[in-house]
Amino acid sequence: MSGTRRPLKSLGQNFLVDGTVIDKIIQAADIRPDQAVLEIGPGRGALTKHLAERAGRLVLIEFDHALAAWHRDQYLGNSAVTVIDADVLKVDLAALLPEVAQKWNVVANLPYNISTEVLFRLYGVHRRLARMTLMLQKEVGDRLAAPPDCSAYGVTTVLLGLWFDISRVVVVHPGCFHPSPKVDSVVLNFMPRSEARAEVGDEDLFRAVVKSAFSMRRKTLYNCLKSAEFAKMIDCGELLEACAIDGRRRGETLSLEEFALLSRRVTELFKEL
Ligand code: SAM
Repeated sequence: MSGTRRPLKSLGQNFLVDGTVIDKIIQAADIRPDQAVLEIGPGRGALTKHLAERAGRLVLIEFDHALAAWHRDQYLGNSAVTVIDADVLKVDLAALLPEVAQKWNVVANLPYNISTEVLFRLYGVHRRLARMTLMLQKEVGDRLAAPPDCSAYGVTTVLLGLWFDISRVVVVHPGCFHPSPKVDSVVLNFMPRSEARAEVGDEDLFRAVVKSAFSMRRKTLYNCLKSAEFAKMIDCGELLEACAIDGRRRGETLSLEEFALLSRRVTELFKEL
């Protein structure tokens, strides 16, 4: 196969070679008969063949042209499998994942250099998803479970925590990959919630509020919010006062509920403009 070429570091190619971990991921993905599945970065196909056996429809997005061509060859004549030779960060996921009755199941051993950006994009289509089973760098996975006011707590914790119940499947040692990465990895299960954990008003504004609050970790919440695009239209001092949140705090001390409160108020203020 084309996999005899050396793995590309630039594409985060650490291929899974441990059968036990592969089995755990496939079990955790719990693909229902005829479900539509998206795999990001199928690589040399460690997970793909199991997904193709179970899924009613399988979409693969692979940025390594040689590997994408190899998968195309593998599944030639199998109309249930679609291979997209593209950068997942440039693919319009909302267009790619149409509304389907059973919703999409996403499975990926993500390239570490883009995993946070991919998480943001998947968050953007959470309503289309039934489940995600993702391998992440352990440090990134730990961030998702971090409580407020600790260094790991960040934008992904708050955004993903709003819409997903996240649980750990297994911690994966570097020796389970070829080549071995320098750090541990973790497989997480993301179960979309039928209702958000908190009422946030406009979701785009919620995302903007959260991102701005974490934009400059050494600055106060007031200063962070003030430099955001949305703050050109509103008075951040009044906003914080109306929410009874001290603007001298740091953004990373706010709980999800406090972010939701700010976002609801910003939504109201925008409606009044
Ligand atoms: N799924 C395979 C496995 O578990 O062995 C490969 C996982 S490897 C960590 C990441 C895969 O993502 C590689 O195949 C790599 O070429 C692909 N990839 C890297 N950047 C990508 C991008 N921007 N869009 C789509 N695929 C990408």
